[in-house]
Amino acid sequence: MRIQRALPGLLAGVAVAVAAALRGAEPPRLSSITDRYDHLSVGDAVTVSDATLEAGRMVCRLKSGRAAPVRAGEEVVGLFFEGQASMEYVSTEPVEAPVVVFDAKKSSSLAVEKTPRGVALRDAPKRVLWLARGIPLPAPGGAPASSLASAFAREREKFGRMHAPPPSHAFALCEIDAPESPFAWVEMEGGREDILYVFDGTDDASEGLAILTSSESNETELRKFLWLVTLSHQPIGRDRRDPVRPRFRLTDVDLDLAATAGNDARLKVTETVVPVARPARALRFDLDRTIYAPVGRNLATRTARATRVTDEKGRELAFDHRMDELVVELAEPAEPDRPLKLTFEIEGDFLVRPRGDNYWELGIWPWFPQPELSGQEYTFHAKVRVPKPFVPFAPGVTLSRKEEGADNVLETRVEKPIQFAVILAGNYQVQEESRDGVTLRVATYGLDNPRGRRQLIQVASEVIAYYRALLGDFPFPEFEILEINDYGYGQSPPGTMFITKEAFDPLVGDLSRNSVQEIVKTFAHEIAHQYWGIVVRIPDAEEQWLAESFAEYCAAMFLKDKRSEAAFESTRKKWKRGADFAADAAPIPLANRVWTAGDALRRAEIRNGLLYDKGPLLLAAIHKRVGDAAFRELLARTQREMGWKFGSTPALVRMLPDAKGSDWAEFFDKYYWGTEMPKE
Ligand SMILES: [Zn+2]
Repeated sequence: MRIQRALPGLLAGVAVAVAAALRGAEPPRLSSITDRYDHLSVGDAVTVSDATLEAGRMVCRLKSGRAAPVRAGEEVVGLFFEGQASMEYVSTEPVEAPVVVFDAKKSSSLAVEKTPRGVALRDAPKRVLWLARGIPLPAPGGAPASSLASAFAREREKFGRMHAPPPSHAFALCEIDAPESPFAWVEMEGGREDILYVFDGTDDASEGLAILTSSESNETELRKFLWLVTLSHQPIGRDRRDPVRPRFRLTDVDLDLAATAGNDARLKVTETVVPVARPARALRFDLDRTIYAPVGRNLATRTARATRVTDEKGRELAFDHRMDELVVELAEPAEPDRPLKLTFEIEGDFLVRPRGDNYWELGIWPWFPQPELSGQEYTFHAKVRVPKPFVPFAPGVTLSRKEEGADNVLETRVEKPIQFAVILAGNYQVQEESRDGVTLRVATYGLDNPRGRRQLIQVASEVIAYYRALLGDFPFPEFEILEINDYGYGQSPPGTMFITKEAFDPLVGDLSRNSVQEIVKTFAHEIAHQYWGIVVRIPDAEEQWLAESFAEYCAAMFLKDKRSEAAFESTRKKWKRGADFAADAAPIPLANRVWTAGDALRRAEIRNGLLYDKGPLLLAAIHKRVGDAAFRELLARTQREMGWKFGSTPALVRMLPDAKGSDWAEFFDKYYWGTEMPKE
């Protein structure tokens, strides 16, 4: 888990800095700041007693011990303490209360108590590293004490193993881009848990608390790190239901990928970005740096390195690419709402062929620089070159597909704003057919399977015709269905569906079989994502039900209308079982926050029970209350009004038609923002 995902909004940047924006070009500061924060030093220690450190809803009492100033270069940026201390963090945000209690009890040894203020989490750390900007720091003033240097070095070594971008990135973004915003980064250890607390006063301000855990995997590469589990993440001064605002928007991606026949590739990406609300001097992107490749039973590490970043004037920009995060310092502040273009060059051995298979995928993870989800709304143009016999696939309208010497070269374009662009290439056999104005392309892997392909084209065109009537025109003129050499899942990037081998079973056409209905539902679910998740975009993990629950419900409507009432009923029973199992742990929007230490199966069942079972049950309850015609109109209207925009649950609630005895705000408070189950 990445820290900015664990604590969303952490590194976003607030207001002010207009004066800085007008200063113009200055020498880059990024590397000098990261260098200072990467090499923190501890000063002379003194005794302390009864000192209090406070940020947001976290209080740390230093009862007795030693403390020393912590310096980044010459500047004192915090203090390090060793001794007897107590920590109390309070989550006062009622929506997250159930999952704070659930996670803290299932995954931590922290003391958890429901208080009138909220859920309190407590520990008694022995060592505290408190780094802060714009938050008052008490000056320890006791008698000289023995050195803390070695304890400090051990603490830094441990927290340096966090699988998260370094604090130096966060502090560099603050210093360069939001110098007047309060920010705190606090590491605590030696108590029941190792704890990270972050207070971020910039933009959509928030604070959160996470614990560090060792990897549950047996893989040596993953066990090198300590992994963060978020126990709380609270907005500051705003409602968690409101849409999140990105620091900048990514509005166009123009990329050129040259693959070798081996693992190596070169990627050149020109991105158009638009700062939001205030000038920007530094921008942070997600960009995977280490890629884990399954080799036999183990994992090997591969790398993707940003080697050069330039602006429109061809100037080389300062950047720092570490721990899957890329921070770029612009040559001068960029005005808000004014697009600028950045070109990134990336190279490495990042083409991973699972288990040595004859395909690779650059999937829905950040393999090119990407802002947080709420900033992703890009048109897309790709040129992909791969050595034969591999056949490349990329989303959008095919501009050209040709052979050049030993290579296959593909060029595509998407004119609508999307997220999750993917590229895949492999040893595929392709069949193409045009149905009702949509070009369907089914690609099977390995053995030639024309019958499986024909069947899938048939089922896909039937599902698309159904959704066209229910939701509106199919969003892409070309749709690619790509077989993945594995079992049991599907995935739906824009204009594309990845689906595993069982969907190509020749019996899919035989509609009487139960297993076949499950495959057809998976297929209908994945195609529905082109509407829910692609046309209606997801601004953050908390709105994921707009993709998953809506896709699942539309797939079940397809089964009911085009197959049988019985198929729908058995699906509804499955939803009920899954939802009953999951409902107490968290409300639907916080499904992704559920954590049960050492029990990956259970946490997956709970997450799925909320997004794929309870969410659809809520939609079934709404369907029943408003009636069939009004519900179908609601789905179509949501597509019209949120189409090619970010979806929003509060906006959806405002669209709900009046129904007898229904107070929709109360309904959503109970069943969506709360953990109750709908009765019907
Ligand atoms: Zn899905």
